[in-house]
Amino acid sequence: MRLILVGPPGAGKGTQAVHLAAHYGIPHISTGDIFRLNIKNETELGKLAKSYSDAGNLVPDSVTNEMVRDRLTHGDVANGFLLDGFPRNVAQAEFLRAILAEKSAPIDAALEFSLEDAEILLRLTGRRTCRACGTSFHIVFEKPAVDGICDKCQGELYQRQDDSEEVITHRLAVYAEQTQPIIAFYRSEGLLISIPATGEVSEISARAISALSAAVN
Ligand code: AMP
Repeated sequence: MRLILVGPPGAGKGTQAVHLAAHYGIPHISTGDIFRLNIKNETELGKLAKSYSDAGNLVPDSVTNEMVRDRLTHGDVANGFLLDGFPRNVAQAEFLRAILAEKSAPIDAALEFSLEDAEILLRLTGRRTCRACGTSFHIVFEKPAVDGICDKCQGELYQRQDDSEEVITHRLAVYAEQTQPIIAFYRSEGLLISIPATGEVSEISARAISALSAAVN
């Protein structure tokens, strides 16, 4: 299964990606997580990425595409992969199609999570992320057992710099302008599957798996 997740920030792609990757036994590749790891480790890539991501802008394609090309050479993608947060514009989608064509390993499906803007804002402003393992919580909808502490690894929860209301509004505009066109791209390729991203986490996973089994064989 070679799968792409598409959807606005806050639609729950990261959370669903973890479930879907475990269900299909494939690696979860999140470009946002790779950038955040590099930012934490203060690498050259991290320093560059931080200047864009703090403002809610996309890191230039030349950097992101090469990072993804390199990641897709790792052995663990032999049986498939789940890409979360990539592609983010049509140029990246075309780049991905080209590198996968070289490997004769095209995408099986692009799964779109749809959600209203008001709901997105509510989810993102309340999101808290573990500094150590990256797991997301929500101050109302998915509270950790102990305030400010990750249930999984006891790491510290923090609010991502790009989850402030001002930056979220900008990220939504970037999504509408740059990312949304990839939905038409994948629809025209016959690969788009859209599901509503509302309800419980487990309900959305079940919806995603049933839509994927109907569409991909
Ligand atoms: P995410 O966790 O997917 O919301 O990504 C966090 C930030 O990382 C984004 O706001 C961008 O600055 C950067 N980023 C992640 N994926 C990409 C991508 N495919 N292209 C460009 N920038 C990206």
